[in-house]
Amino acid sequence: MTEGRIIKALSGFYYVKSGDDIFQCRGRGNFRKQNITPLVGDFVEFDSQNPDEGYILSIKKRRNMLIRPPVANIDQAIIVSSAAKPDFNPLLLDRFLVMIESKGIEPIILITKKDLKDESELASIYHYQRIYENIGYSVKLISALQSEESGGLKHELAGRVSVIAGQSGVGKSSLLNALNTSLKLKTDDISASLGRGKHTTRHVELVEVGGGLVADTPGFSTLDFDDIMLDELPDCFPEISERKADCKFRGCFHNKEPKCAVKQAVAEGEIAQSRYNHYLRFMNEIQSRKPRY
Ligand code: GDP
Ligand code: ZN
Repeated sequence: MTEGRIIKALSGFYYVKSGDDIFQCRGRGNFRKQNITPLVGDFVEFDSQNPDEGYILSIKKRRNMLIRPPVANIDQAIIVSSAAKPDFNPLLLDRFLVMIESKGIEPIILITKKDLKDESELASIYHYQRIYENIGYSVKLISALQSEESGGLKHELAGRVSVIAGQSGVGKSSLLNALNTSLKLKTDDISASLGRGKHTTRHVELVEVGGGLVADTPGFSTLDFDDIMLDELPDCFPEISERKADCKFRGCFHNKEPKCAVKQAVAEGEIAQSRYNHYLRFMNEIQSRKPRY
């Protein structure tokens, strides 16, 4: 029995990397009966007589997982936004942040297309950069066209498993191509994100980029908060979560309640108004969602 990690799933086969070798495996016969589906990113135990014929025997407990792309044990999600074309959109960025925080995955914020703005136009981007850095997020502002800048991302990727998320056209594929010239992912002009188009299949692969592994399919095709419960939402905003103990009421939603430390921090400018507005907006979306049966 050997241990390894699934780095690719295709047509019923799982490709398990163990040391420098890759083994083509199937799931063990009783996985189907037990409704167990191995995922890319899973740490597994497997048996194999040769590199083309192995069986996955067991899957180690997952730290986290995503449905889209179907990947487990993700170390970080890189949320890509652009400074221009499309315009920087803080509401959309906060949607991505909440989705990722709710899965227990660490976000990294990357803003591309810096080259499309001059210094004076960049002022509003710097403003947001400070807001997110004050929360504790890592924020990088780059141009994927300048390789030394995209190269700066490499040490963030090294030794970790990352997924990339972000609206279409922000430069996700361009960035990966700049980091790994053998990838040749299709960019905007030819097809949708990361060359996979809208009809995303179950195929997903972790590809080597900058000394780490990155899922070759971007995350989150929809950004509704269907599986986030109302009481989980405050914890998806680190700057709200870290102040909740100071609110008068336990279980304060930081909305209409008196003596709320979060509202006070907003009034004092310690929590950004934009972030708080988005929090209230998401709360509203979750409250007004139709119950599912
Ligand atoms: P994706 O949909 O997020 O994968 O975006 P693409 O990588 O396909 O990029 C969309 C368009 O933006 C393409 O025409 C790219 O050439 C362009 N692009 C990507 N990054 C940059 C950048 O940093 N600066 C500029 N000026 N254009 C970029
Ligand atoms: Zn409160």
